[in-house]
Amino acid sequence: MMANGKTPKPKTCPICSTEYIPRSSLQKVCHNYKCAIAFNKQRHAEIAAREQRKREREQSADLRQRREALKTISDWNKEAQAAVNKFIFWRDYGKPCISCERQLNYGVRGGAVDASHYRSRGAAPWLRFNVFNNNSSCVVCNRDLSGNPIPYRINLIKKYGLEIVERIEHDNKTRKFDIDYLKRVKSIFKRRARHYEKLRKRYSEAA
Ligand SMILES: [Zn+2]
Ligand SMILES: [Zn+2]
Repeated sequence: MMANGKTPKPKTCPICSTEYIPRSSLQKVCHNYKCAIAFNKQRHAEIAAREQRKREREQSADLRQRREALKTISDWNKEAQAAVNKFIFWRDYGKPCISCERQLNYGVRGGAVDASHYRSRGAAPWLRFNVFNNNSSCVVCNRDLSGNPIPYRINLIKKYGLEIVERIEHDNKTRKFDIDYLKRVKSIFKRRARHYEKLRKRYSEAA
């Protein structure tokens, strides 16, 4: 009988696997002192490993912070644009080239599908993160034909309507983006890209 009046239930020793009747509810191993020592060693090793993992996490967070502090506005610009382009890839997944309407190979990212700006980044840099101004296109239209703008415009109207296309065409309000803004763009579009990626993959699995 234990202090609380209940008959103690037999336990299995986690070290040697024999069954034993514990003397108190705090007893973790059988009555063999060797098991007690082994159990203690195990516990200490677990605690040490946990502390080591925590130190490693803190170090990598620290490293990341220092690396981020060294980034220039041009680095943030590239990362923000990459996040937006990835979002465009998954948003337009399965759709043909916005300009020539040829079927695109979405098998590999960074391969046959480009994020093509209707108004180029050079001509209208303030529209470089605009999601209407940025659509999936083939490499030939985007790189060799400078976006292939005449059919691009026709298909852009089909996709979003004339009003949005004209709004893009008439938007000449120059805007400069600071690092905080670029960080926000990156994090927002990273999340949106992931959301669309999951959606597309779920859909293609179901099909
Ligand atoms: Zn034991
Ligand atoms: Zn094309």
